[in-house]
Amino acid sequence: MKVEITKEQYLTYIEKVSEKIASEKNYITELDSITGDGDHWVNMNMGFQKLISSKSDLEQLSFNQMFKKIGMLIMSTVGGSSGVLYGSAYIKAASEIGDAEIIDLALLLKVFEAKLNGIMERGNAKPGDKTMIDSLYRGVEKFKEAISANKSDKEVLMAFKEGAQQGMQDTKEMEAAKGRAYYQTNKGVGHLDPGAVTMYYQIEALVDFLLTS
Ligand code: ADP
Ligand code: MG
Repeated sequence: MKVEITKEQYLTYIEKVSEKIASEKNYITELDSITGDGDHWVNMNMGFQKLISSKSDLEQLSFNQMFKKIGMLIMSTVGGSSGVLYGSAYIKAASEIGDAEIIDLALLLKVFEAKLNGIMERGNAKPGDKTMIDSLYRGVEKFKEAISANKSDKEVLMAFKEGAQQGMQDTKEMEAAKGRAYYQTNKGVGHLDPGAVTMYYQIEALVDFLLTS
């Protein structure tokens, strides 16, 4: 298989990940109640539901305009840190897409690198701070390594997902240096970061969708 994502496929992926997020209400709310203020699921779910209800507007746009619009919708709908951070991620990634009508694997890597940089710049955080960055960073790192090693598209996607999963799991033992978990007495040690988990869901949903479509 060769990865070639159209904007129609991207919107189908948005539907898939929305279903996944919607179904994890209790788990994500519990994690954010322990390490933060308990609203991370509400924030993420609201954002994805907004994207679903905006589908007819989004499908009229070019790929890069669609990404920009997704970023703006998330920023204006989602409260909390995650709204601003995901908004910045999509807006930054939009400029990588340029005139492309199809995202192949090389461009997908650039898109995710741009998302990572957008989030790190906006939130002034880095890998190891126990945030959504940890799953994304580790995923992108494995993605890049697999591309450099000339792995097949399928192997690259699997590496991306496995890296993201590892990054998510690693947040369990991290002490938070950013976000609300920093203000908890134990800095969240012993619990996964909710933002790292929902970031992983998005990468997992994309990879699973691409591997089966
Ligand atoms: P808030 O923390 O404002 O209530 P959310 O609950 O929606 O917002 O999101 C919390 C998640 O946001 C955290 O679990 C963490 O992954 C992420 N996060 C918080 N601050 C930052 C930051 N400065 N940089 C990157 N991610 C962050
Ligand atoms: Mg919160």
